[in-house]
Amino acid sequence: MAESERCPVCGMQVDPESSPSTSYDGQTHHFCSNDCLTTFEQEPQSYLSESM
Ligand SMILES: [Zn+2]
Repeated sequence: MAESERCPVCGMQVDPESSPSTSYDGQTHHFCSNDCLTTFEQEPQSYLSESM
């Protein structure tokens, strides 16, 4: 069973091999679109804290 990645911004499932990605805090994050990547980079912390 393949691991799927989720876009941390909108929660959509993404294909790690074809999606835009960025490294933050030693981890690679994948995004459904460049829009979400840009949004993430503006405020990474708020997307990495899981539902609290
Ligand atoms: Zn997204």
